[in-house]
Amino acid sequence: MADKLHTALVYLKGVGPAKAELLARELNLHRFRDLLWHLPFRHIDRAEIQQVRDLRPNLPAIQLRGLLTGFSITGPPRRKRLVALLQDDSGVVELIWFRAVVNIEKILKKGATYTVYGKPNYYRGKFSIPHPEMELGEGQASAMRFQPVYSSTDQLRKRGLDSKGLERLVRSLLDTLVPADLPEFIPAELRRQRRLVGRDRALRDIHFPVDQKALEASRRRLKFEEFFGIQLGLLLTKAATQRKLKGFVFDRIDGVFDRFYHQRLGFELTGAQKRVLREIRQDTRSGAQMNRLLQGDVGSGKTIVALMVALMAIDNGFQAAVMAPTEILAQQHLASIQEALGDLPVRVGLLTGSVKGKPRKDLFMALKTGHLDLLIGTHALLEDPVVFQNLGLVVIDEQHRFGVAQRARLWKKNVRPPHVLAMTLYGDLDTSVIDELPPGRKPIQTVHRRDPQRLAVFGFLKEEIEKGRQAYIVYPLIEESANMDYKDLMDGYESVCRAFPNYPIAIVHGRQKAHDKDAEMQRFASGQAKIMVATTVIEVGVNVPNASVMVIESAERFGLAQLHQLRGRVGRGAEQSYCILMTSDKLSSDGRTRIRTMCETNDGFRISEVDMKLRGPGEMAGTRQSGIENLHAADLVLDRELLEEARAAAQQIVEEDPRLERPEHHPLAAHLVAERRLKGDWSRIS
Ligand code: ADP
Ligand code: MG
Repeated sequence: MADKLHTALVYLKGVGPAKAELLARELNLHRFRDLLWHLPFRHIDRAEIQQVRDLRPNLPAIQLRGLLTGFSITGPPRRKRLVALLQDDSGVVELIWFRAVVNIEKILKKGATYTVYGKPNYYRGKFSIPHPEMELGEGQASAMRFQPVYSSTDQLRKRGLDSKGLERLVRSLLDTLVPADLPEFIPAELRRQRRLVGRDRALRDIHFPVDQKALEASRRRLKFEEFFGIQLGLLLTKAATQRKLKGFVFDRIDGVFDRFYHQRLGFELTGAQKRVLREIRQDTRSGAQMNRLLQGDVGSGKTIVALMVALMAIDNGFQAAVMAPTEILAQQHLASIQEALGDLPVRVGLLTGSVKGKPRKDLFMALKTGHLDLLIGTHALLEDPVVFQNLGLVVIDEQHRFGVAQRARLWKKNVRPPHVLAMTLYGDLDTSVIDELPPGRKPIQTVHRRDPQRLAVFGFLKEEIEKGRQAYIVYPLIEESANMDYKDLMDGYESVCRAFPNYPIAIVHGRQKAHDKDAEMQRFASGQAKIMVATTVIEVGVNVPNASVMVIESAERFGLAQLHQLRGRVGRGAEQSYCILMTSDKLSSDGRTRIRTMCETNDGFRISEVDMKLRGPGEMAGTRQSGIENLHAADLVLDRELLEEARAAAQQIVEEDPRLERPEHHPLAAHLVAERRLKGDWSRIS
């Protein structure tokens, strides 16, 4: 049964409770299937023997073969080192051991040929290989030619779960799996047409291929499988929606929508906003349920569109809900929606975890009896006691933060599912795109500065503040190292206070009580505080058009998607805005690419492309939160052609057998159910 893959990792040989917890925390690996899909990001060709003269600084690893010409133990008693010399036709390199020195000395054979593998060190013009893997003679070349390399983290490495350690776990996992645990679901005919290897084969070969050909075949198969599964899911849902789900019809816009448009909207909608509203209007009059994704860059004006769609719902006698991923964001939405509505007769309520007691009860009552038109809140909206009288529309902000399962719960809130408008930066459903910024916006200027230039940066902040502007200074807060980060934030706050003794400074972070946070936000939003020191809690949604400078501290620790979201907090007014990325001097090459990309472009779509290309080793903070995280083998950018192929194949199947009723499609249906990609709405199909 495929269910074995759902077994918790703690039951895998070689994984105890401590390691299981670490794997969950560091790499988000919880079950057998997660580890199975923790794919190596590359393989080392162990058959390839290089030469000493091929050594270069920063080589990830090298394999050499040569004569062990001699070795000796050096250094003071407590810091003993074993140094050996390996010589091939092109030169000599030092092999060094710091641990188990005496034991290793016993086994080494002077004058013998060794195959040696390790990561070279480069120091003061000289190469050495610390703690290499050693094999006497010609090595096992054929036994395992391709060695997988897995991404890991510092915490995991400390506990022996480096790439090698993970390799051992994957091996032990594959040993326990039989072919029936990895059942084929792509129909035989399709596999033949597209020349795809079987599933069991592919999942083994992707980790431990015998040769390059096997590796490539397995990659292709798994990429196809991922794209095919997703596409099929989307197409089936769409077909089912069109077939079955009747939607509410919003055909009136002659009430609050009309008044809002003519009396309250202080600006001309952009062409893109108008087009999107037209698309949504078509959807909501069609009689079918809308499931639309509104994709637009940060600050492109998605929220105003969402509000107007809510007003359509209200004009037709329905209630609407706006769901935000955090409490702060929900409050922000409430504030800006109330401000936008002014005195229009729309009854708006807020529901978050901190609305308690009688106000909460009253709110529930008003919702149920239809005395509330628009409810804004966090996922508290999904809780059972929340009953609407007639919910007609749900707007989900930043939807990638909500799980599919959570979304499905919304559907259960009504006899008929409400229309759903999800707003996000990335997407793949029926998509509307706002690809035009409101007029008068100047592109944000982004620069990279290093710690020694901090004084100059502060000087610049001062100039901007003197001009009447405000600034953000953001510190990373990564769950894994929360205490350290918290200290960084507080140290930073103090130094900012010292550098700007004459300006009120606000501070916001995750450990504050909601109402303190709110008060600080308010102090900044009102213009009283000139500088806002914060963690990433301000990542989304905060809208203070007067803020023109965003300083991001330790920017190398953020993922691209996060950097882009943060930068989107400035550049919301007519003034020139700036984003300053502060880093230390030491930057990894990925880090450098991220910083450079940010400095080069403001285009969220381009940034997401680079983001996905970098995602391979996935060691940076914030990776998990950013964008499309369900793809393991495939890459939306690099594998676009395969995506097209998979889509065409999925389309054909859905056209011919939209309910997957044919016997040859049963494994497909089972697979989709197991994947729970469509949890909730899938039950409507099968
Ligand atoms: P998003 O939700 O896409 O991040 P918002 O809807 O919050 O963007 O809009 C950002 C800012 O731009 C808000 O202050 C909003 O009032 C303003 N805005 C939206 N649309 C326009 C427009 N067409 N012209 C001028 N300003 C606009
Ligand atoms: Mg927004």
